[in-house]
Amino acid sequence: MKIPFNKPFMTGRELAYIAQAHQHGQLAGDGQFTAKCHKWLEDNTGSKKALLTHSCTAALEMAAILGNIGEGDEVIMPSYTFVSTANAFVMRGATPVFVDIREDTLNIDESLIEEAITPRTRAIVAVHYAGVACEMDTIMTIAQKHGLLVIEDAAQAIMCTYKGQPLGSIGDIGAFSFHETKNVISGEGGALLINREDLIERAEIIREKGTNRNQFFRGQVDKYTWVDIGSSFLPSEMVAAFLWAQLEEASEIKQERMNLWMHYHDSLEILEQRGFFRRPITPQYCSHSAHMYYLLLESKQERTSFIRTLSEHGIHSVFHYVPLHDSPYGKHLNPETNALPVTTSYSERLVRLPLWIGLGEVQQCVINTIYKAFNHDSL
Ligand SMILES: *Cc1c(COP(=O)(O)O)cnc(C)c1O
Repeated sequence: MKIPFNKPFMTGRELAYIAQAHQHGQLAGDGQFTAKCHKWLEDNTGSKKALLTHSCTAALEMAAILGNIGEGDEVIMPSYTFVSTANAFVMRGATPVFVDIREDTLNIDESLIEEAITPRTRAIVAVHYAGVACEMDTIMTIAQKHGLLVIEDAAQAIMCTYKGQPLGSIGDIGAFSFHETKNVISGEGGALLINREDLIERAEIIREKGTNRNQFFRGQVDKYTWVDIGSSFLPSEMVAAFLWAQLEEASEIKQERMNLWMHYHDSLEILEQRGFFRRPITPQYCSHSAHMYYLLLESKQERTSFIRTLSEHGIHSVFHYVPLHDSPYGKHLNPETNALPVTTSYSERLVRLPLWIGLGEVQQCVINTIYKAFNHDSL
Protein backbone atom coordinates (compact mmCIF):
# COMPACT_ATOMS: atom_id res chain seq x y z
CA MET A 1 0.00 0.00 0.00
CA LYS A 2 1.17 3.50 -0.86
CA ILE A 3 -0.14 6.56 0.95
CA PRO A 4 0.76 9.75 -0.91
CA PHE A 5 1.46 13.00 0.92
CA ASN A 6 -1.17 14.92 -1.05
CA LYS A 7 -4.02 14.10 -3.40
CA PRO A 8 -5.92 16.99 -5.00
CA PHE A 9 -9.65 16.89 -4.19
CA MET A 10 -12.34 17.45 -6.84
CA THR A 11 -15.91 18.33 -5.94
CA GLY A 12 -17.19 16.75 -9.16
CA ARG A 13 -18.52 19.87 -10.88
CA GLU A 14 -15.22 21.27 -12.17
CA LEU A 15 -15.51 19.87 -15.70
CA ALA A 16 -19.18 20.86 -16.09
CA TYR A 17 -18.33 24.45 -15.19
CA ILE A 18 -15.39 24.46 -17.61
CA ALA A 19 -17.82 23.26 -20.31
CA GLN A 20 -20.17 26.12 -19.37
CA ALA A 21 -17.32 28.62 -19.66
CA HIS A 22 -16.67 27.24 -23.12
CA GLN A 23 -20.35 27.63 -24.04
CA HIS A 24 -20.38 31.22 -22.80
CA GLY A 25 -17.80 31.83 -25.50
CA GLN A 26 -15.40 33.82 -23.33
CA LEU A 27 -12.25 31.93 -22.53
CA ALA A 28 -10.05 34.86 -21.53
CA GLY A 29 -10.21 36.19 -17.97
CA ASP A 30 -12.78 38.31 -16.12
CA GLY A 31 -15.90 36.51 -17.37
CA GLN A 32 -18.88 35.21 -15.40
CA PHE A 33 -16.99 32.63 -13.33
CA THR A 34 -14.29 35.09 -12.36
CA ALA A 35 -17.04 37.49 -11.20
CA LYS A 36 -18.62 34.72 -9.08
CA CYS A 37 -15.26 33.94 -7.48
CA HIS A 38 -14.58 37.62 -6.77
CA LYS A 39 -17.96 38.02 -5.08
CA TRP A 40 -17.44 34.86 -2.98
CA LEU A 41 -14.03 36.06 -1.83
CA GLU A 42 -15.32 39.54 -0.98
CA ASP A 43 -18.38 38.16 0.86
CA ASN A 44 -16.32 35.63 2.81
CA THR A 45 -13.44 37.90 3.80
CA GLY A 46 -15.06 41.32 4.00
CA SER A 47 -12.24 42.62 1.80
CA LYS A 48 -13.06 45.69 -0.27
CA LYS A 49 -11.84 44.07 -3.49
CA ALA A 50 -10.79 40.59 -4.54
CA LEU A 51 -8.99 39.93 -7.83
CA LEU A 52 -8.14 36.46 -9.11
CA THR A 53 -4.54 35.98 -10.21
CA HIS A 54 -2.78 33.02 -11.80
CA SER A 55 -0.97 32.23 -8.52
CA CYS A 56 -0.32 33.51 -5.02
CA THR A 57 3.17 34.33 -6.31
CA ALA A 58 1.55 36.65 -8.88
CA ALA A 59 -0.64 38.23 -6.18
CA LEU A 60 2.47 38.93 -4.08
CA GLU A 61 4.20 40.42 -7.13
CA MET A 62 1.20 42.70 -7.63
CA ALA A 63 1.33 43.65 -3.94
CA ALA A 64 4.99 44.67 -4.30
CA ILE A 65 4.16 46.89 -7.31
CA LEU A 66 1.10 48.36 -5.55
CA GLY A 67 3.22 49.11 -2.49
CA ASN A 68 5.73 51.01 -4.67
CA ILE A 69 8.50 48.80 -3.33
CA GLY A 70 11.75 49.62 -5.15
CA GLU A 71 15.52 49.66 -5.27
CA GLY A 72 17.13 49.99 -1.83
CA ASP A 73 13.93 49.33 0.12
CA GLU A 74 13.80 46.76 2.90
CA VAL A 75 10.92 44.39 3.55
CA ILE A 76 10.62 42.53 6.87
CA MET A 77 9.49 38.90 6.69
CA PRO A 78 10.12 35.49 8.24
CA SER A 79 12.91 33.33 6.81
CA TYR A 80 10.77 30.26 7.50
CA THR A 81 8.51 30.59 4.43
CA PHE A 82 8.14 29.79 0.75
CA VAL A 83 10.43 31.61 -1.71
CA SER A 84 7.62 33.63 -3.30
CA THR A 85 7.18 35.64 -0.09
CA ALA A 86 10.64 37.11 -0.73
CA ASN A 87 10.97 36.90 -4.52
CA ALA A 88 8.04 39.23 -5.18
CA PHE A 89 9.88 42.08 -3.41
CA VAL A 90 13.37 41.09 -4.57
CA MET A 91 12.12 41.40 -8.17
CA ARG A 92 11.42 45.10 -7.47
CA GLY A 93 14.97 45.61 -6.18
CA ALA A 94 14.21 45.38 -2.46
CA THR A 95 16.19 43.49 0.19
CA PRO A 96 14.37 40.98 2.38
CA VAL A 97 15.16 41.40 6.08
CA PHE A 98 14.62 38.08 7.83
CA VAL A 99 13.22 37.84 11.35
CA ASP A 100 12.99 34.73 13.53
CA ILE A 101 9.73 32.90 14.25
CA ARG A 102 7.73 32.23 17.41
CA GLU A 103 8.17 28.84 19.06
CA ASP A 104 4.43 28.20 19.34
CA THR A 105 2.92 29.14 15.95
CA LEU A 106 6.07 29.24 13.77
CA ASN A 107 4.93 32.69 12.62
CA ILE A 108 7.11 35.81 12.50
CA ASP A 109 8.05 36.79 16.08
CA GLU A 110 6.37 40.19 16.37
CA SER A 111 8.55 41.12 19.36
CA LEU A 112 11.60 41.13 17.03
CA ILE A 113 10.08 43.31 14.28
CA GLU A 114 10.82 46.78 15.68
CA GLU A 115 14.55 46.14 16.09
CA ALA A 116 14.69 45.10 12.41
CA ILE A 117 13.20 48.41 11.22
CA THR A 118 15.60 50.91 9.58
CA PRO A 119 14.95 54.16 7.67
CA ARG A 120 14.75 51.99 4.51
CA THR A 121 12.02 49.67 5.77
CA ARG A 122 8.84 49.91 3.69
CA ALA A 123 6.73 46.86 4.49
CA ILE A 124 6.13 43.86 6.73
CA VAL A 125 5.00 40.54 5.24
CA ALA A 126 2.94 38.47 7.68
CA VAL A 127 2.93 34.80 6.61
CA HIS A 128 0.16 32.88 8.37
CA TYR A 129 1.85 29.49 8.70
CA ALA A 130 -0.56 26.54 8.41
CA GLY A 131 -3.43 29.05 8.44
CA VAL A 132 -2.74 30.06 12.05
CA ALA A 133 -2.66 33.84 12.31
CA CYS A 134 0.35 36.03 13.06
CA GLU A 135 -0.11 38.46 15.98
CA MET A 136 -1.88 40.96 13.74
CA ASP A 137 -2.82 43.50 16.46
CA THR A 138 0.84 44.04 17.34
CA ILE A 139 1.99 43.96 13.71
CA MET A 140 -0.64 46.54 12.64
CA THR A 141 0.30 48.82 15.56
CA ILE A 142 4.01 48.67 14.67
CA ALA A 143 3.22 49.30 10.99
CA GLN A 144 1.07 52.34 11.81
CA LYS A 145 3.69 53.78 14.12
CA HIS A 146 6.43 53.49 11.46
CA GLY A 147 4.32 54.14 8.35
CA LEU A 148 4.82 50.65 6.89
CA LEU A 149 2.65 48.62 4.56
CA VAL A 150 1.37 45.25 5.82
CA ILE A 151 1.01 42.44 3.29
CA GLU A 152 -0.54 39.17 4.45
CA ASP A 153 0.83 36.08 2.72
CA ALA A 154 -2.37 34.15 3.40
CA ALA A 155 -1.51 31.41 0.87
CA GLN A 156 -2.40 28.73 3.45
CA ALA A 157 -5.06 30.75 5.24
CA ILE A 158 -8.31 30.89 3.29
CA MET A 159 -11.28 30.69 5.71
CA CYS A 160 -9.08 31.26 8.76
CA THR A 161 -9.55 34.02 11.34
CA TYR A 162 -7.72 36.10 13.94
CA LYS A 163 -9.99 37.35 16.75
CA GLY A 164 -12.90 36.81 14.39
CA GLN A 165 -11.38 38.72 11.46
CA PRO A 166 -10.80 36.72 8.25
CA LEU A 167 -7.10 36.41 7.36
CA GLY A 168 -6.13 38.28 4.23
CA SER A 169 -8.49 41.14 5.12
CA ILE A 170 -6.54 42.64 8.04
CA GLY A 171 -3.41 44.13 6.42
CA ASP A 172 -3.35 46.61 3.52
CA ILE A 173 -3.14 43.74 1.03
CA GLY A 174 -3.64 39.97 1.27
CA ALA A 175 -2.75 37.06 -1.01
CA PHE A 176 -4.35 33.59 -1.29
CA SER A 177 -3.12 30.52 -3.17
CA PHE A 178 -5.23 27.96 -5.05
CA HIS A 179 -2.27 25.74 -5.92
CA GLU A 180 -3.20 22.05 -5.96
CA THR A 181 -1.43 21.53 -2.62
CA LYS A 182 -3.70 24.03 -0.82
CA ASN A 183 -7.23 23.52 0.56
CA VAL A 184 -9.24 25.12 -2.25
CA ILE A 185 -7.61 24.61 -5.62
CA SER A 186 -7.53 25.39 -9.32
CA GLY A 187 -4.24 23.69 -10.23
CA GLU A 188 -2.33 26.93 -10.25
CA GLY A 189 -4.20 29.98 -9.00
CA GLY A 190 -4.39 32.75 -6.48
CA ALA A 191 -6.15 35.93 -5.45
CA LEU A 192 -5.21 39.40 -4.30
CA LEU A 193 -7.31 41.05 -1.59
CA ILE A 194 -7.16 44.83 -1.50
CA ASN A 195 -8.31 46.20 1.81
CA ARG A 196 -7.73 49.87 1.07
CA GLU A 197 -10.05 51.81 -1.23
CA ASP A 198 -7.18 53.96 -2.56
CA LEU A 199 -5.30 50.95 -3.97
CA ILE A 200 -8.17 49.33 -5.90
CA GLU A 201 -8.06 51.24 -9.17
CA ARG A 202 -4.30 50.83 -9.56
CA ALA A 203 -4.54 47.11 -8.72
CA GLU A 204 -6.97 46.61 -11.63
CA ILE A 205 -4.59 48.46 -13.95
CA ILE A 206 -1.49 46.49 -12.87
CA ARG A 207 -3.40 43.22 -13.38
CA GLU A 208 -4.42 44.25 -16.93
CA LYS A 209 -0.93 44.86 -18.33
CA GLY A 210 -0.80 48.45 -17.09
CA THR A 211 -3.90 49.48 -19.05
CA ASN A 212 -7.20 50.97 -17.92
CA ARG A 213 -9.11 48.16 -19.65
CA ASN A 214 -11.40 47.58 -16.63
CA GLN A 215 -12.46 51.24 -16.57
CA PHE A 216 -13.13 51.05 -20.32
CA PHE A 217 -15.45 48.05 -19.90
CA ARG A 218 -17.31 49.88 -17.13
CA GLY A 219 -17.77 52.85 -19.48
CA GLN A 220 -15.66 55.14 -17.28
CA VAL A 221 -13.24 56.03 -20.13
CA ASP A 222 -13.96 56.01 -23.87
CA LYS A 223 -10.82 54.16 -24.93
CA TYR A 224 -8.31 52.06 -23.11
CA THR A 225 -4.62 52.72 -23.11
CA TRP A 226 -1.28 52.25 -21.36
CA VAL A 227 -1.30 54.15 -18.07
CA ASP A 228 1.12 52.36 -15.68
CA ILE A 229 3.44 49.37 -15.34
CA GLY A 230 1.75 45.99 -15.15
CA SER A 231 1.61 42.47 -16.44
CA SER A 232 -0.91 39.79 -17.31
CA PHE A 233 -1.82 38.64 -13.81
CA LEU A 234 -5.33 37.32 -14.44
CA PRO A 235 -6.30 33.65 -14.94
CA SER A 236 -8.43 32.40 -17.83
CA GLU A 237 -12.15 31.66 -17.37
CA MET A 238 -11.43 27.91 -17.46
CA VAL A 239 -9.35 28.24 -14.32
CA ALA A 240 -12.01 30.43 -12.68
CA ALA A 241 -14.71 27.88 -13.62
CA PHE A 242 -12.69 25.11 -11.93
CA LEU A 243 -12.16 27.32 -8.90
CA TRP A 244 -15.85 28.16 -8.65
CA ALA A 245 -16.68 24.44 -8.27
CA GLN A 246 -14.28 24.41 -5.31
CA LEU A 247 -15.42 27.65 -3.66
CA GLU A 248 -19.02 26.42 -3.73
CA GLU A 249 -17.92 23.58 -1.44
CA ALA A 250 -15.25 25.42 0.53
CA SER A 251 -17.06 24.94 3.87
CA GLU A 252 -17.44 21.19 3.34
CA ILE A 253 -13.78 20.94 2.28
CA LYS A 254 -12.73 22.75 5.45
CA GLN A 255 -14.91 20.49 7.62
CA GLU A 256 -13.60 17.26 6.09
CA ARG A 257 -10.00 18.39 6.51
CA MET A 258 -10.75 19.45 10.08
CA ASN A 259 -12.05 15.95 10.91
CA LEU A 260 -8.77 14.42 9.68
CA TRP A 261 -6.73 17.08 11.50
CA MET A 262 -8.56 16.44 14.78
CA HIS A 263 -8.14 12.68 14.42
CA TYR A 264 -4.35 13.12 14.16
CA HIS A 265 -4.38 15.61 17.02
CA ASP A 266 -6.36 13.41 19.41
CA SER A 267 -4.62 10.16 18.45
CA LEU A 268 -1.11 11.55 18.84
CA GLU A 269 -1.60 13.30 22.18
CA ILE A 270 -0.24 10.38 24.21
CA LEU A 271 3.01 10.27 22.24
CA GLU A 272 3.42 14.01 22.79
CA GLN A 273 2.90 13.50 26.53
CA ARG A 274 5.64 10.87 26.48
CA GLY A 275 7.95 13.48 24.96
CA PHE A 276 8.45 12.07 21.45
CA PHE A 277 7.38 15.20 19.62
CA ARG A 278 5.33 18.38 19.82
CA ARG A 279 1.95 18.76 18.10
CA PRO A 280 0.74 22.04 16.48
CA ILE A 281 -0.29 24.85 18.84
CA THR A 282 -3.26 27.07 17.97
CA PRO A 283 -3.91 30.17 20.12
CA GLN A 284 -7.54 30.14 21.25
CA TYR A 285 -8.38 33.36 19.36
CA CYS A 286 -7.19 31.87 16.03
CA SER A 287 -9.25 29.52 13.87
CA HIS A 288 -7.38 27.60 11.17
CA SER A 289 -8.72 25.49 8.33
CA ALA A 290 -6.68 22.31 8.75
CA HIS A 291 -4.33 23.09 5.90
CA MET A 292 -1.55 20.93 7.33
CA TYR A 293 -0.70 18.61 10.18
CA TYR A 294 2.90 18.69 11.33
CA LEU A 295 5.01 17.27 14.16
CA LEU A 296 8.16 18.76 15.67
CA LEU A 297 10.57 15.97 16.47
CA GLU A 298 13.51 16.11 18.89
CA SER A 299 16.34 16.35 16.35
CA LYS A 300 17.22 16.24 12.68
CA GLN A 301 18.42 12.63 13.07
CA GLU A 302 15.08 11.63 14.61
CA ARG A 303 13.26 13.25 11.73
CA THR A 304 15.38 11.39 9.18
CA SER A 305 14.67 8.03 10.78
CA PHE A 306 10.96 8.91 11.30
CA ILE A 307 10.53 9.74 7.60
CA ARG A 308 12.38 6.53 6.69
CA THR A 309 10.16 4.38 8.93
CA LEU A 310 7.01 5.89 7.42
CA SER A 311 8.43 5.44 3.94
CA GLU A 312 9.16 1.74 4.64
CA HIS A 313 5.43 1.42 5.33
CA GLY A 314 4.53 3.17 2.07
CA ILE A 315 3.68 6.48 3.73
CA HIS A 316 5.02 9.62 2.13
CA SER A 317 5.76 12.43 4.61
CA VAL A 318 7.62 15.64 3.77
CA PHE A 319 9.39 18.53 5.44
CA HIS A 320 9.97 22.21 4.64
CA TYR A 321 11.28 24.97 4.47
CA VAL A 322 14.96 25.47 3.79
CA PRO A 323 15.19 28.81 5.65
CA LEU A 324 15.51 31.61 3.09
CA HIS A 325 18.35 33.33 4.97
CA ASP A 326 20.34 30.09 4.71
CA SER A 327 19.65 29.46 1.01
CA PRO A 328 22.26 30.40 -1.62
CA TYR A 329 20.25 33.35 -2.95
CA GLY A 330 19.17 34.55 0.49
CA LYS A 331 22.80 34.65 1.61
CA HIS A 332 23.77 36.52 -1.54
CA LEU A 333 21.06 39.16 -0.97
CA ASN A 334 21.51 39.58 2.74
CA PRO A 335 24.81 38.12 3.95
CA GLU A 336 24.51 39.86 7.30
CA THR A 337 21.39 38.13 8.63
CA ASN A 338 21.92 37.27 12.31
CA ALA A 339 21.44 33.73 13.48
CA LEU A 340 17.74 32.79 13.57
CA PRO A 341 17.84 29.97 16.11
CA VAL A 342 14.16 28.99 16.16
CA THR A 343 13.92 29.02 12.35
CA THR A 344 17.04 26.88 11.97
CA SER A 345 16.08 24.40 14.66
CA TYR A 346 12.46 24.00 13.54
CA SER A 347 13.32 23.65 9.87
CA GLU A 348 15.46 20.65 10.83
CA ARG A 349 12.84 19.00 13.03
CA LEU A 350 9.46 19.58 11.37
CA VAL A 351 7.66 16.86 9.44
CA ARG A 352 4.27 17.08 7.68
CA LEU A 353 1.86 14.14 7.61
CA PRO A 354 -0.46 13.18 4.72
CA LEU A 355 -3.69 15.21 4.95
CA TRP A 356 -6.15 15.04 2.07
CA ILE A 357 -9.84 14.37 1.61
CA GLY A 358 -10.23 10.65 1.02
CA LEU A 359 -7.41 9.69 3.39
CA GLY A 360 -10.27 8.13 5.41
CA GLU A 361 -9.52 4.68 6.79
CA VAL A 362 -5.86 4.66 5.79
CA GLN A 363 -5.29 7.55 8.20
CA GLN A 364 -5.34 4.96 10.99
CA CYS A 365 -2.44 3.13 9.26
CA VAL A 366 -0.44 6.35 9.37
CA ILE A 367 -1.20 6.76 13.08
CA ASN A 368 -0.39 3.10 13.86
CA THR A 369 2.89 3.41 11.99
CA ILE A 370 3.80 6.51 14.00
CA TYR A 371 3.20 4.52 17.19
CA LYS A 372 5.45 1.75 15.82
CA ALA A 373 8.13 4.31 14.93
CA PHE A 374 8.36 5.15 18.63
CA ASN A 375 8.11 1.48 19.72
CA HIS A 376 4.66 1.99 21.17
CA ASP A 377 1.58 -0.14 20.73
CA SER A 378 -1.20 1.82 19.12
CA LEU A 379 -4.28 2.79 21.07
C1 LIG B 1 1.93 28.01 -1.53
C2 LIG B 1 2.54 29.25 -0.99
C3 LIG B 1 2.90 30.32 -1.81
C4 LIG B 1 2.86 30.25 -3.31
O1 LIG B 1 1.62 30.00 -3.86
P1 LIG B 1 1.47 29.78 -5.44
O2 LIG B 1 0.00 29.90 -5.65
O3 LIG B 1 2.01 28.42 -5.75
O4 LIG B 1 2.21 30.86 -6.12
C5 LIG B 1 3.39 31.48 -1.23
N1 LIG B 1 3.52 31.59 0.11
C6 LIG B 1 3.20 30.57 0.93
C7 LIG B 1 3.36 30.75 2.40
C8 LIG B 1 2.72 29.36 0.41
O5 LIG B 1 2.42 28.35 1.24
